[in-house]
Amino acid sequence: MKNNTSADMSNPAITIKELVKDKPLVLAGPCSAESRDQLLSTAKELASFGVKIFRAGIWKPRTKPGGFEGVGKEGLKWLAEVKEVTGMYTATEVANSKHVKEAIKGGVDILWIGARTTGNPFAVQEIADSLKGINIPVFVKNPLNADPDLWIGAIERLQNCGITEIAAIHRGFSAYEKGLFRNQPQWHIPIEIKRRVPSLVMICDPSHIGGRPDLIYPLSQQALDLGFVCLMIESHYLPSSELCD
Ligand code: PEP
Ligand code: MN
Repeated sequence: MKNNTSADMSNPAITIKELVKDKPLVLAGPCSAESRDQLLSTAKELASFGVKIFRAGIWKPRTKPGGFEGVGKEGLKWLAEVKEVTGMYTATEVANSKHVKEAIKGGVDILWIGARTTGNPFAVQEIADSLKGINIPVFVKNPLNADPDLWIGAIERLQNCGITEIAAIHRGFSAYEKGLFRNQPQWHIPIEIKRRVPSLVMICDPSHIGGRPDLIYPLSQQALDLGFVCLMIESHYLPSSELCD
């Protein structure tokens, strides 16, 4: 597994094309890093199923104050250990330039921008600026609202800062009316994104669309049928104990 070295951070150590060679690519792990034990136990199980990329939120943007907001940079050490023990690539969410700096310093391989951040052009620009000269893969979740321009705008801000390894994650759109899904899939929006940027690798996150374990399989199948090549699935070694999602 290649690592970015400080001597040449502008050449991506990991290319998305290489990652999605074996379809579907699965990216899995807990909503958030809670403890070293939780991360390692979950990661070892996922690695035994052949999962190549391990996800865990280190900083968690919560809708309301008072919730578990992530363990912060302490969790980066656990992620580094996951990588060392299992050989999986690691991925985490960044919402500002401080997160980017700490994640890169901590050796995280892939960054993603969460739905609450994609909808904020100032935050996305700050992240993009802090990534200048560091060509790490960045996955951009759709914004909470069903606005393709806001989603594409975030992608363009990264591209304008020289990031070439970009993929889009469809995680559904929030709605006041609660139905079957936690977030409405509105499949025509990611399809429109792909129509406008045909080269973009499309990832589906059935966990945040469905919000329920029994919807993961049908949503994943639907996504694959629609041409998504990668799935981001939240997983926990002991789901009944998890602190969020
Ligand atoms: C997550 O991936 O755990 C997360 C917070 O997702 P989203 O930004 O899609 O709500
Ligand atoms: Mn989550």
